[in-house]
Amino acid sequence: QRLKEGLSKTKKGITDKIDVLVQSYQSIDEDLFEELEEILITADIGVNTTMEVIDELRNTIKQEKIKDPQEIKNLLKQKLTDILNQLSSTDLNVEPTPSIILVVGVNGVGKTTSIGKIAHRLKKQGKRVLLAAGDTFRAAAIDQLKIWGDRVGVDVIKHQEGSDPAAVIYDAIQAARARNIDVLICDTAGRLHNKKNLMNELGKVFKVVEREYPQATKEILLVLDATTGQNAIQQAKTFKEVANISGLVLTKLDGTAKGGIVIAISRELNIPVKLIGVGEKMEDLQEFHVKNFVSALFG
Ligand code: GDP
Repeated sequence: QRLKEGLSKTKKGITDKIDVLVQSYQSIDEDLFEELEEILITADIGVNTTMEVIDELRNTIKQEKIKDPQEIKNLLKQKLTDILNQLSSTDLNVEPTPSIILVVGVNGVGKTTSIGKIAHRLKKQGKRVLLAAGDTFRAAAIDQLKIWGDRVGVDVIKHQEGSDPAAVIYDAIQAARARNIDVLICDTAGRLHNKKNLMNELGKVFKVVEREYPQATKEILLVLDATTGQNAIQQAKTFKEVANISGLVLTKLDGTAKGGIVIAISRELNIPVKLIGVGEKMEDLQEFHVKNFVSALFG
């Protein structure tokens, strides 16, 4: 239900438009395909994915001699589901424990909020969770993480603003060991001035993790803001070059009609979207399941 509400803008952007479209056509022709293409591209599904979906749709319609435009919506739902099902598994990789999740992404995308929400999820599953305030460049980031920690009821390892992020992560790993923590979730600073800079900052943290926590199951999550569309794809490409990103968290899907970006991103980058943010509250982070996603869009 939350997913449905969260995706309502995208639903309006895609399916409601398709409803209007198919009603305005008596038969299926090239103009219809073109308008359909336009709708999908506008929803940020991505040019390649759109072309693929439209081509398959055209083939099926031809082969099965489908005449009624009303059937297009169901066919489209099916094609999208098929294509999305090719994406890899989306479960958070936190087993076997201990495990560590490094969360990367540029400021403002919803990194801190997502960490709080993930902590809440894992805690509800009975896991012992600890947070590390590795974004030491902004005092606000440290404070914000502490607020989430208090809200969710998990401790936060933090140093002062301006201190070495790698030192925070080092301390957090020692604490996680001493306290028998299942999942340590680390915030990081994502200042994307340039690639070299980012590589230096994150590289040091990765090294500490490799050295101090070799036995831990590792997940590197990149957080992206869905409302930034193609910009998010660009960010993801840069991060992918410097880090071994194992999953994506796409936030603020509730704030955009272009939720198709989930599809474009996971396909273009070949990295699974693991979680999607559909609101500001603790519960507003959902696992990304193709079936649920497509159902929420097509009703
Ligand atoms: P950070 O700088 O990346 O750590 O970003 P924050 O976690 O502080 O989030 C920035 C803003 O985005 C805050 O106002 C959050 O409440 C908001 N936000 C984060 N995730 C979501 C989401 O899924 N939906 C909505 N509507 N807002 C979100």
